[in-house]
Amino acid sequence: MPRYVVNNPQAESEESSEEEDDDQGQPEAEDEEPAHAQPAKRQKISLQLGKGKGQLVCHVCGKPGHCAGFVGAAYMDCPNKPCYLCKNTGHTTMTCPYRVAPEHGVKQSNSVSSDGILATLRNREQDGRQREVRRPHTKWLVESAVLRLHSRRCTCLEFHPTRDNIVVSGDKKGEVAVWDFHKVTERSVYKTHKALTNHVRFLPSSDGAACCSAATDGTLKELDIETGSDKELLNCNPEGWITGVTDEKAWIMLYGLGVSWRRSLIAVGDSKGMVYFLDRRQKDPICCHQLHKKGNKVTSADFHPVDKDLLLTASNDWQAKLSDMRMLCAPLTEGSKGKGQMQPPIEVVSMEHPKVVNSAWFSPVTGQKIMTTCIDNRIRIWDTLFNAGQPADREIIHSHDFNRYLTPFRAEWDPKDTDEREVIIGRYISEDFGGVALHPVDVMDGGTGRLVAEMKDPNLQTICPVNKPHPRQDIIISGSSTSLYAWSPASPDEEMDGLQTASSQKLPDSAAVLFSNPNYISFNAGDETKKSSKSKKGGSSSKDDDSEPKKGKKK
Ligand SMILES: [Zn+2]
Ligand SMILES: [Zn+2]
Repeated sequence: MPRYVVNNPQAESEESSEEEDDDQGQPEAEDEEPAHAQPAKRQKISLQLGKGKGQLVCHVCGKPGHCAGFVGAAYMDCPNKPCYLCKNTGHTTMTCPYRVAPEHGVKQSNSVSSDGILATLRNREQDGRQREVRRPHTKWLVESAVLRLHSRRCTCLEFHPTRDNIVVSGDKKGEVAVWDFHKVTERSVYKTHKALTNHVRFLPSSDGAACCSAATDGTLKELDIETGSDKELLNCNPEGWITGVTDEKAWIMLYGLGVSWRRSLIAVGDSKGMVYFLDRRQKDPICCHQLHKKGNKVTSADFHPVDKDLLLTASNDWQAKLSDMRMLCAPLTEGSKGKGQMQPPIEVVSMEHPKVVNSAWFSPVTGQKIMTTCIDNRIRIWDTLFNAGQPADREIIHSHDFNRYLTPFRAEWDPKDTDEREVIIGRYISEDFGGVALHPVDVMDGGTGRLVAEMKDPNLQTICPVNKPHPRQDIIISGSSTSLYAWSPASPDEEMDGLQTASSQKLPDSAAVLFSNPNYISFNAGDETKKSSKSKKGGSSSKDDDSEPKKGKKK
């Protein structure tokens, strides 16, 4: 029996939060566009019936004879437009071959090489020694959940480095929450930032309580998760936000955040393509580098798990980059990019993408592989760092591009998988599960693109863009809207009735079960929010570039 905690039970029947529609699957509003995204506007898609004499007219292409939009729980797209999933023409999302089998057309890592001893060596490099095949769990169930933990949508998750039952999450309002998913009811919510907490990472500390968070308010803060007290490590906008005075374009926001425990180094990227390097023992940043194109967000930063000299960053400039920390403080050199263009010598190699890159991560055990999530609905995997300058070894087509106000999807490695193949990512387009449109969280084999498991729960009908596999236990936490869900593998009995995959599986058409269960305990997110330190008035919250359209707010 899953254990839930619900914040604010009285409001159950009402709209759960102003954020809620953000996570519904129906394409609608235009999301923030990348700096150089194609100008093609996505149109509002809806079903129009009965124009004239009961004739169907498509809202997307305006032509009669067909329609587009949700029909029940299934989404029909316009046959005159490219497939929403793979972006190819000639079929619709409903009939897309990648929808049925995501591994369609993907090279298997084992078949990359030909025969011979070299091939064997290369296979070993790529996939590790031949081990007993790890059998990933094929069915997962929600074990516990904390509903409405946050006041706005969840933006990031991080597990405690040593305490197995603790997960830390950030939200769009600048909060950082700490949840004990074993005890379920135990959690703390701190108002750490004035706007969107983009990334949280733990820092080395004697009591394990120190973490740092980067936010849209332009600050990087060190936070004690036990007490909620915080201290500013970096403030990119020391003047603060002054309504009517501050130039929006000049405002700097912090995004991608990486921590090297071995180097005691923090790397944080901003909204202008700049990456700052800090040592928390000293007051000012060690240095900063324009690693990515000016004016583009640095969406992620990740230190290599073994080689302390390597940093991987991703950006809205359609690039993922490898950098060499040994060159951190070397002076700028004239780069290959053009006359007079000074370039930081720390840049090693750049991985080009056709669109915005949401994240780029080293594989968690050896760091030999690189995985990126790009909004062209592709997960790309490089099997060795040496290939990083080449096209990816594998492209897996997966639905994670969206046109709503959502946290960008990021494919995550399972750190427990020593083969470095298991990948977890939320799915944007919904499937019809017994009449309910659900957005599963997918467990995929990064070596083949095969869908290993789709995690779904009839009560979880919102999209799960934020997911994190536990570093040591068979637990995956998903952040969906303002709530967190802890998944665990089904018992062998439960697994038996869950062997069917994809849309063949029918779930009971219940949604009422959730809130009638006496085990679901509730709190009120707003009441519990602890103000951390002295919070000044007139903050910079208006500078949240992610803010949703101001409409339809309910009292
Ligand atoms: Zn049409
Ligand atoms: Zn397709």
